[in-house]
Amino acid sequence: MIYLDANATEPVRPAALAAAAEAMGAVGNPASVHAAGRAARRRLEAAREAVAACFGATAAGVVFTSGGTEADAWAVAALGRGRRLIVGATEHDAVRAAAPEAAILPVDAQGVADLAALRGLLAAGPPALVCLMLANNETGTLQPVAEAARLCRAAGARLHVDAVQAAGRIRLDFAALGADSLALSSHKLGGPAGAGALLLGPDAAQIAPLIAGGGQERGRRGGTPPLPAIAGFAAAAQEAGMADAARLAPLRDAVEQAAVACGALVLGAGAPRLPNTTCLALPGVRAETQVIALDLLGVQVSAGAACSSGKVARSHVLAAMGAGDLAGEAIRVSLPWTATAADVDGFAEAYRQVAARLSRAAA
Ligand code: PLP
Repeated sequence: MIYLDANATEPVRPAALAAAAEAMGAVGNPASVHAAGRAARRRLEAAREAVAACFGATAAGVVFTSGGTEADAWAVAALGRGRRLIVGATEHDAVRAAAPEAAILPVDAQGVADLAALRGLLAAGPPALVCLMLANNETGTLQPVAEAARLCRAAGARLHVDAVQAAGRIRLDFAALGADSLALSSHKLGGPAGAGALLLGPDAAQIAPLIAGGGQERGRRGGTPPLPAIAGFAAAAQEAGMADAARLAPLRDAVEQAAVACGALVLGAGAPRLPNTTCLALPGVRAETQVIALDLLGVQVSAGAACSSGKVARSHVLAAMGAGDLAGEAIRVSLPWTATAADVDGFAEAYRQVAARLSRAAA
């Protein structure tokens, strides 16, 4: 089996597994005052310090959540309250579903947000919350978030950044970006599912809770924190990084060369991208047909937008890029931190077979 679907979820990193297992073996609720509770509290705060240090936040500005979806939904609900919402056209459904009435910020053919359009939208009305993702989950395209943050500040708008796919794959410094909030997800960087974080800048630190509960996380997020998932998240964040990026970029390029030689087009290739992600369109061949055919050959990739029902919708990301019919004919190959040159060779061989058979059938 060749697993090339890291953007769906990364394989768990050994350090994350060890940290999660250790935390799971220890008793204690961080809210309890006795010794076991205090030990749990120390574990929680050490994880918070580690996540803050990895991503350029302050410890006080790290609030643990259940994952990226909660962090996005919370930021939109709390920081967008009473504000106009402006959302990038290629945002993840975690943001889009939380902001169904939002004005859409268009992207160019490479999937990069149009900053001139952002300027116009910001000037057009009262203070806004803008949601702009750092890296797209389908194409890997990186957005000019620091520039967007400057425009937002000048216009009195807030900026929320979904960095779920970027964290651990490119350098990420929340303070330097200048955004008000930023969403992270543990399982996208090699930690366990069930944890994530919302990073908050100084102006957003007093955010209203989405889940009030028992006042945990300084009253910002109720619920007993899942310490094993959080400890694993912190360990994964510390292990993920630039060494993976340097190793994965040439492997990703080799995947693209093999696919292009079979008639594929690389969508978003003209923009700065994540080192592990490529979006490959095979004209005339439906994305789900490609995914199934590759799976039968032992290669696991995904179609642009797989929803939880397992059905594949036409990608809103690729449609926003003006990809036309190709929006339903593109697969996403996303290399996990475990990927090897042998995986790339296996993909290339399977893709050659699939493209030869399905392209002929489509012709
Ligand atoms: N944002 C982006 C860009 C994603 O790719 C995902 C998951 O695919 C999410 C948010 C949601 O994250 P989680 O699975 O942790 O809820």
